[in-house]
Amino acid sequence: MCTLCLSSGLSRRLFLGAGAATLAAAPLIGSAHAQPARAAETPDAALKLLVEGNERYVSGKINERDFSATRAARAEGQKPFAAILGCADSRIAPELAFDRMPGELFVVRVAGNFVTPDGLGSLEYGAAVLGTKVIMVLGHASCGAVLATIEALQKGNTLPGHIADLVRAMKPGVEPALKEAGQGLEQRAIIANVRYNVQRLQQEKPIIADMVSSGKLKVVGGVYDIATGKIAMV
Ligand SMILES: [Zn+2]
Repeated sequence: MCTLCLSSGLSRRLFLGAGAATLAAAPLIGSAHAQPARAAETPDAALKLLVEGNERYVSGKINERDFSATRAARAEGQKPFAAILGCADSRIAPELAFDRMPGELFVVRVAGNFVTPDGLGSLEYGAAVLGTKVIMVLGHASCGAVLATIEALQKGNTLPGHIADLVRAMKPGVEPALKEAGQGLEQRAIIANVRYNVQRLQQEKPIIADMVSSGKLKVVGGVYDIATGKIAMV
């Protein structure tokens, strides 16, 4: 059993509910009794930090960073205040887009920013063990994974290799946008995919759903505009 985790101030009941697998996995990523201070202690405060950080990023007024000054503290552990489920797209860097330091964001990335079993386990670990207060599903404009899924749904084409698996997994999130009439299918599909995965996470029992219903965690959606860097809540 991970005694470090149990001594971190987190709910013992939550740990027992989370099961042995979560406890056993805890030392793999890092100690939960971290030395650095957490930047936010409530879901609303955590979301506010993300929003304010993105505003600094968009306006070009990002904080000056001395990464070496806080390196030693990070070696003692981590206390990220937010988790991001983002796309693998190389044009979006969450720590930059939210103007945050290493150790503050727990980032899971997969092309198309959708929930996978492994990604879900990572997000559960972030929330239950590391204490993240908010999870943001972060989609973005011009997402190749969303566009490929739209094309596969419209034309019935099959993509090579395991890309086909990715597109298949994204269909439930993208498909609702195709059933709506009107312009802007790409943007509607990007938003639909984010909202689908937000709802999915909110309902994932036992860890995330329970933390959401008890007010310890929020799951929200955002879409990053590559041209401006601005993240709109959706
Ligand atoms: Zn993408």
